[in-house]
Amino acid sequence: MKKSSESQDLLRALPSVDRLLQHPVLAALSKSIPHATLVRAARSVLEEQRQHIRLGKTAQSEQALAEAIWEQATQAAQPHLTSAVNATGIILSTNLGRAALPESAVQAILTIARGHCTLEVDRETGRRGSRQTGVRHLLMELTGAEDALVVNNNAAAVYLTIHTLAAGREVIISRGQLVEIGGAFRMPDIIRQAGAILIEVGTTNRTRLSDYENAIGPGTALILRCHPSNFKIVGFTEEAPLPDLAALARQHELPLVDDVGSGCLLDTSSLGLPHEPSLTESLQAGSDLVMGSGDKLLGGPQAGLLIGRADLIARLRRSPLMRVLRPGKLTLSALEAVLRLYLDTETALQQIPTWRYLLRDLPTLKRLAQQLQRRLKSSIPPKTGWQFQVIPTHAEIGGGSLPGETLPSFGVLIHLSAMSAEDLARALRQGEPAIFSRLEGSGVLLDMRTIEPHEISLITGCLKTLCDEHASQKV
Ligand SMILES: *Cc1c(COP(=O)(O)O)cnc(C)c1O
Repeated sequence: MKKSSESQDLLRALPSVDRLLQHPVLAALSKSIPHATLVRAARSVLEEQRQHIRLGKTAQSEQALAEAIWEQATQAAQPHLTSAVNATGIILSTNLGRAALPESAVQAILTIARGHCTLEVDRETGRRGSRQTGVRHLLMELTGAEDALVVNNNAAAVYLTIHTLAAGREVIISRGQLVEIGGAFRMPDIIRQAGAILIEVGTTNRTRLSDYENAIGPGTALILRCHPSNFKIVGFTEEAPLPDLAALARQHELPLVDDVGSGCLLDTSSLGLPHEPSLTESLQAGSDLVMGSGDKLLGGPQAGLLIGRADLIARLRRSPLMRVLRPGKLTLSALEAVLRLYLDTETALQQIPTWRYLLRDLPTLKRLAQQLQRRLKSSIPPKTGWQFQVIPTHAEIGGGSLPGETLPSFGVLIHLSAMSAEDLARALRQGEPAIFSRLEGSGVLLDMRTIEPHEISLITGCLKTLCDEHASQKV
């Protein structure tokens, strides 16, 4: 009884929202953070406090409540989407936004974002034009395709194709290619959702041309091929070669549609990398329609690229779905800038970050790692108990490209006695900027493959701050 009346008193004694917001701790914040955000934080802190009191716990001081509001409001005012340092060594990580854009694409986005633009206007006549003209001509020139179309992403490209060319009819695909990519893209689900009937042929590890041939019937709309881009079946395997499949499709007057995944425009084997199917290569092998992502090995913004036969692309372009799946002006401006770089392969390799990361040589990576190690050692002396070691490691390509392939790399391994590797990795993620690392044994690894030279100072600064904070907490 007594206890409950005590807590009634405590509840009544709680300060009001207005009074808390007057607290000196929050004075500076009220200029930079919207009033509504502060009020929401204050209400939530007070509610928490009431629950504490009802559970019989002691009430916190007004100072402590104001500090809690400060914490919550500052958190809430931060943008959810913020830039990150990718020290994971995974070149194309969907979690970290896949491809970093080249400078020319960044400039294009800034220019277009700031004001009005020529999105859908023909400058000659002043009449309505197509938003796709720029990217369409570049894709045609770069791949030799009859026509091209760009949609929101590659999943949209697959969906639009199946829906337009195969709804109510059958799509033949090898069992070895019924992939799931990034959790949410499942080929069988997309095919069904797009209204087609899935006809699986062959087995997980072996599909022969005759398997396709036997499945073709009056209900067949097209043959679909999908590059299993995030896994590798090794051992006793067989897939019908693309030219043979193309000949079979032609013989039955069926379109052969190929989802190559990465949207690659270059021959990766000639660059000393493992082979990855390119848009051009698939077209040349006889595919009628080829699709890929804009933000994987192409190194551009999120987009779905479709190239191929003019009559098929024309049908896709006329679909009402096109209005649903069309890319926005910022995407188109960045994609056009990226495609333009490919007009000269050397320029593309030098300016597109994805290719720079892929092709960074070991001496460069080692030099970068030593540079980072030197900077860290001079900012964080050994007496702190933090240790920095340069080690050889392996970076991943990721993002549904070059499955199972890793590239040799160098990194800085951080060991510290007073904090677990997990805690350090979490603190780095929550810092400013957010740094994403990799756990390696009992340490935290910063892989140099995907770190820009100018990020070395940022990383050093973050780690120094963490080390200082940690030291002051221990005292
Ligand atoms: C990545 C990938 C997709 C999905 O592409 P998004 O651009 O992420 O929509 C589809 N098919 C294959 C083979 C892929 O590798």
